[in-house]
Parts: sequence; structure tokens; C-alpha cells
Amino acid sequence: MNDSAAQPDATVRLADYRPPAWRVRRVELVFDLAVDATVVTARLHLQCERDEPLHLDGEELELLDISLDGRALAATEYRLDARGLTIPGARDGSMLETRVRIAPAQNTALSGLYLSGSHDSGFLLTQCEAQGFRRITFFPDRPDVLAQYTVTLRADAARFPVLLAGGGPDGTGTLPDGRRWARFVDPYPKPSYLFALVAGHLEKIERAYRTAEGREVSLRIYAEADAIDGCGYAMDALERAMRWDERVYGRNYDLAIFNVVATHDFNMGAMENKGLNIFNAKYLLADPETTTDDEYRHIEAVIAHEYFHNWSGNRITCRDWFQLSLKEGFTVFREQQFCADMQSAALQRIDEVGTLRRVQFPEDAGPLAHPVRPAEYTAIDNFYTATVYEKGAELVRMLAGRLGALRFRRGTDLYFTRHDGQAATIEDLLAALGEANDLDLSPYLAWYAQAGTPCVTAQGDYDASTRRYTLTLAQQTAPTAGQPEKSPLPIPVRLALFACDGRRLPLHLQGEPASVGDECVLELTQREQRFVFTDVDARPVPSLLRGFSAPVQWQYACSPRELALLLRYESEGYDRWNAGQQLAAAAYDALHAGAQDRSALDAWCATLADLFEADTAQLDPALLADMLAAPSAIELGARHDPLDPERVHAAREAIEDALAIRLGEVLPARYHALRQSESGALDAPAQARRRLQGRVLALLLRADPPFGAALAMKQYEQAQTMTDRLAALAALVRAGAAQAEQALHDFRARYDGKPLVLDKWFALQAQAPTREALARVQLLADDPAFSLHNPNRVQALLGAFARGNPVGFHRPDGAGYHYIADRLIEIDALNPQNAARLAKAFESWHRLEPQRRAAALLALREIESHSGMSRDLADILARMRD
Ligand code: ZN
Repeated sequence: MNDSAAQPDATVRLADYRPPAWRVRRVELVFDLAVDATVVTARLHLQCERDEPLHLDGEELELLDISLDGRALAATEYRLDARGLTIPGARDGSMLETRVRIAPAQNTALSGLYLSGSHDSGFLLTQCEAQGFRRITFFPDRPDVLAQYTVTLRADAARFPVLLAGGGPDGTGTLPDGRRWARFVDPYPKPSYLFALVAGHLEKIERAYRTAEGREVSLRIYAEADAIDGCGYAMDALERAMRWDERVYGRNYDLAIFNVVATHDFNMGAMENKGLNIFNAKYLLADPETTTDDEYRHIEAVIAHEYFHNWSGNRITCRDWFQLSLKEGFTVFREQQFCADMQSAALQRIDEVGTLRRVQFPEDAGPLAHPVRPAEYTAIDNFYTATVYEKGAELVRMLAGRLGALRFRRGTDLYFTRHDGQAATIEDLLAALGEANDLDLSPYLAWYAQAGTPCVTAQGDYDASTRRYTLTLAQQTAPTAGQPEKSPLPIPVRLALFACDGRRLPLHLQGEPASVGDECVLELTQREQRFVFTDVDARPVPSLLRGFSAPVQWQYACSPRELALLLRYESEGYDRWNAGQQLAAAAYDALHAGAQDRSALDAWCATLADLFEADTAQLDPALLADMLAAPSAIELGARHDPLDPERVHAAREAIEDALAIRLGEVLPARYHALRQSESGALDAPAQARRRLQGRVLALLLRADPPFGAALAMKQYEQAQTMTDRLAALAALVRAGAAQAEQALHDFRARYDGKPLVLDKWFALQAQAPTREALARVQLLADDPAFSLHNPNRVQALLGAFARGNPVGFHRPDGAGYHYIADRLIEIDALNPQNAARLAKAFESWHRLEPQRRAAALLALREIESHSGMSRDLADILARMRD
């Protein structure tokens, strides 16, 4: 029986979850590895839980042999279709053996077993999350089937000198035909998505590590020969992450070897395969000449993230893919805590909130909105989203904040011990956190089920005669796809009250016997609630949602004067920055609306000018740098329906220009002072200094374009770090300076053959905010260094253009949409996950003003009309159009 007719894509529902009817307790895999054809032999030791025919997932596998309990099966004894294999004769305790052939070099989807690099010298590797294992062998490919893996790799020793799989080594040898074999056993039962192997020409660096529990571990980072020198920073970061997890969560590593491998061909950031993490090279390789300060931070974050998964994800995994945020939200939160400890906590929080507002809020406000725990999916690959990751992390942060550090640790300890070795649910996590502390956290489950960003409004009333300040808080969430009605959620609102001289007031909440200090957390649980503060001497200025205590939109009618006061006096870096952002948004609103009122713009510029000129020792230069930028065009664009992105961009430019002009005279001196202290060092003060220098340079190009461009060119040429060089190049390109071409040309020649650097070069040009950027992108797509096969290249050029160029992509004639639509069709034929990710750039099409909306719709229709679309892309398009 061989029926490969396509079946309609079924919707999978959380409500339909059933435990597996069949489990695999042990699996033995033998790989006969070769680039063009690899043969995989799998022996599955089956356990029947329910009387149902055995079904195994399998896609694009060529079945060579199949036997059950040692007897070859006739074609009538199993059923094979495009989705997998059904074997009615399997019994509890049966051993099924299959042999399949797969074609790694043909695998352009980068899911399953594939080739990284060239046919003759590249290496083989796997990617199995979420459903790649079924492209390697027939298996119940679901995360609640935990099996013990024994893996034997057999290959030509000259072509594949290094052979790696998760777990521990269990012997090597030479076969009669001269090939080498190496066996690995992983003692920890794991789901198939955590399986991994790597084979090929790779170099390694190694470091001995002793865990707090006393286990000796060999840490090994592998990369191709030309990249191995760039692995040292990642090794240091790995060691820091391991120590941190021992100290903060009491989590130790649990195998004798921890492998990390870098590849240039990867769909995502990195993957936490048990004992064998695989990284997109861009989150692993670093060297002082080509890596920017931001990239150093990203590498440390991703290294930590994947390492932390060993507990939050691997030792305790997800029962089903609806629970994805159980591992991802929790692990992102752990990563964020780590990063906050390693460097400036304020900058880290600014980064997090920025990402949330730029990426997650638009997702939550558009047709692709879904709960942190989705209720259904047709293509799970499309749920590795900012909502599941970043909003998921915010939910864990709220829980951690609700408990406080000590009780949160008590809760995570219980979670890790209680569920070790299990496939768990989000309820399990909340129950453990609550039970360890005699608390019921179940009201927070509603956050996981409800899509959309709640909007909180606040109204403050001061009564001088009673010296009372009444704060009325209300919440409301707009309907999202499939969820017309929204319930109120528990929203922790951290706040402080400021007097007009910038002092923080002691807080007396009505009904509380004593002062609660100068900061408190109000729990908004209903649609509307009122909180009364007593003994308030004068009308205060509230600083609300401090530290971004809940992932909500905020509406509070603050006057520019009040926001300026917070910008000046808030003691917390994040809140100070945030006040500035709100003030800038108010300035932007007035300008965009063509209003005469310049009070917000004046307040923003004047306050920042004061801070800029004031004693620099008081303010972290990196924080100041971030304060000197307006909110992104995406954040500002979210304030409009219908939306004209070009007009948003223009108004945003105008407020930044106004700031530059206001600062004008003091910029050159500060710039030179900053440049003079450049040492090329990587420590936090040096990074902060460079961040501010880059920002000042960009403002200089606005305040005095010819002078600024000359300085930028000089900085470009004399730069000691990639941070400085790239900042100069970016400033020139953004400003459309005459020197930009020359610098771009030089950059291209200087870093030829360095893909990670060329990605920056592609992205900068793709983001140049002009309508002509499209022609530039079209030209760059023909550059020999560009390839539709490589996800990093596609995201650097096309992703940066579609997501980061409000003017070029959103040309009113629709040419930008049309161009991306055509590329999407080509990419989809190669790599559906990559195409689906790029297609999300259209997620806000419905809010565009009529002309652009019609053009975007036309482009979407064009994609839809082409035949043979992948499930991933079809799912995104269908949901965007609903
Ligand atoms: Zn993760």
C-alpha cells in the first residue's frame, strides 16, 4: 500500500490531547552517513498503552525494509502514506525495525538531516524541533514519547573525521569495509525533537569544567577550521551561564560532555539538543575585529538560553506543542535574568521592552494574534513567536515578581524535582510555584489562554482638602481572532509617586495600617478598580508600571511637564528611559497631527539637553544613548489606523531632527571627548561609551549633515572596533550622505568572504529609508554573496527590508510588496519555515491606508494563487487573511 496523495492539513487542538497510544521506551539508531544518501536503521522497542493500531510519523522517507519482531512485513501488513506508517500487527513489547533512505544534500528545508556548506567539504547535521525527526526515521514524533537513545554513526573517516551525537560516547571502531563507527548512549530519556547528530570536518576547542556537585565535564565547541578561532568568547559565556544556573537555580549539568556546534545554515537562533547544542554561527562566533558590542551580548544570551534549556526544556520537557512556552517563556526569562546580572539591568530591560513593543505587540494586535498557549494550530513551526517566547517570559516574570526571589526559588525547586524526567504542562509549573508557597496562582492561567495586549488606563485625582490621591485603574482587551470576549486578567501595577521636586513620596494606602514604603504593587484584577492613597501633601506625579511590571499597553493622560519630571528624576534606568519614550511619542503625535502645540517636543528636547550637558558621571552613557532616540517607527505606527508608514517615518524624523538641532552646539565637543577615550576594550564602560558615541554621531549627521558626514567617514576609516565602524557606516547610509557609497564599497571589499559581516552590509542597505531602497535590494539580490538558500542572508536582505524599511517596503505603488511576494514564492519552494517567517512582514497589512492596503492585498493574492504552497506558508497566509 503506498498512498502518497496529499491530505488536507488538519487542525490540531489542545482540547483533543490524548496521551500516546504507543510509547517507545528504547530506540537504537544506526546511520550509514553520506552526503547524497544516508541510510537510517531504527529499532523501536514498543509499548502499547491503548488498543489502537500503531501509527508512526514519517515524511519524505524512502522505505527500504521493514520487519516486526524479526520477520519482514509483506506490503499488505502495513500502510504507508505521505504522513507516515501504520502497522496493525504491532503488539505490546514488539520490536519494529525499519530501514529508510534520506537525501541530506537535497534537504533545503534545513529540517531533519541536512548538509551545511559545500558538497565536498561541508558537514552533516540535524534539526529536529519541532517535527524534523520524522524526516529522519519513522517514529511517534511527539514530545510526550520519551525514549532512551543508542545511536551508531558509520561513515567514511576521511570525509567525516568527526562524529557526534547526544549523550555519552560508547565506543568507536573500524568496520570491515574500512569505514569508522562511533556509538553514543544517552542515559536520559528524551523526546525525539532533542535528538541530534553532527558529522564532518570540524575543529574543536575544549575546556574542563567541574560542576558545583563535583561532576567533571568536558565543554567542547566545534566549528569549521576557518571559524574555530572565533569560539573562545562563547566558551567563556558558557562557563558563566553554567555557574549562574548553579548559583541562582541550583541546576547542575548532568552529562560528562557538553558539545556545541556552529553552522552557517540554520533556520533559527540555536537548538538545545541534549548534550549537543547546535548554533546559528551568528550567535556563536565572535572576534574583536568583526563582532559588534550588541552581537557579543546576543551570543552570551543565546549560549545561556540553550544551556538553561537542559533543565527547563530537556530534563523537564513539554507534554505537547501547545505547552511550548513552558520551556521557551521560562527559558527566555532565565536568560533575561542572567543577562541582567552580567551587565546593566536597566539596558537589558530596555531591550526586552523594546522587543516586546516592536515585535510582540504588533503580533498581538494583528490577525496572527494567538495566546501564549495557543488553543489550536495547523503548522506548529509558525508558533515559535514573540508571543510564545517574549510574552511568555513576561508571564513568568509576573509570577516571579508576585512571589519574590526566595519563594520563586522554592517554587522552581519543587517544579524541577517533581517533574524531572516528565513531559509537563503550564498548569504543572503554576501548581508547583503556588504549592511550594501555599498560594493559588491559577488566576494567572488566564494570561496563557487569552490573546491580545490588555490596555490599562489610569486616572489620577488629587483632593487637596482631604490630602487624598485616588488612582482609578481600568483594563480592557480588544477582540482577537476567535476570541471576541475578553476577561479581566490579574495585572500587577508597580508604582511610585513623585513630588514636584523629584522626591519619591512615602505611600499610605487606604486600609493598610502603615506606610508601604515609597513603592508598591497594586493588583488590578477587575475591569476597574480604585486605589486611594492618604496623607499626600500635594498633587503627585505617578510613575506607573515601573520596570514594566506587566505586558500591557498603557494609557495615562500625563502632561509633558509630568513626563519630563520623570525623565529627569526617575531613579530606575528603565523607567527614566520609558518616560522619555512616552514624551517623545507625545511630541510625535502632535507633529503627525499637524498640531501647533509644541510643548511635548520642547519638553523632550529641553530635558534631554539638560541631561546631556549635566554631570556625566551620574548617568550611564549607554542609558543616555538610548534616551536620545525616539521610539521605533513600528511602535509609533501602532498608534494609527489607517496607517501610512511613510508619514510615520517622516514625523519621527522630524522629532529626532529637532532634538539634534536643540543639542547642536554641544554635540561636537562631546563626540570628540568620547572618541578620544576609545581603547577598543570590550568591558561594559567601553561598550557604553561606544553606544553613546554612535548615537551622538547619528545626531551630528542630522544637526549638521556635511560636518557630521565627514566625521562619520573619519570614524569609519579609523575605527578600532566593528561597533564603531558599523555605526559610522549606518549613519552615513541612513542620512543618504554622499560618502556612503564609497564606504559601502570599502566595507564590501574589506570583509569579502565573511558572511556574518556581509549580513550587516546587506541589512544596512536594505533599511535605508528611501523609496529607491527597493532598486538597491533588487541589485543586492544578484550579488554573488547572496543566496535564497541561506536563512541568514534572506533575513539580512529581505527580512531587514520588509520589516525594517517603512519607506522602501511600503512604497505606495506596491512595488515593495510585489517584490517580496515574488521572492516568497521562490523561498517557499526551498525552505518553508524561512518563507513563513518572511511572510509575517505583512502581518499588519489590514491597517494600512487604502492605497497600500489594496496593493498589499494584491501581493498576498499573488502568493496565494501559486500552486504547491507549503503548509507553513499557507497557514500564515490563511490566518492573515481571515
Ligand atoms: Zn529556547
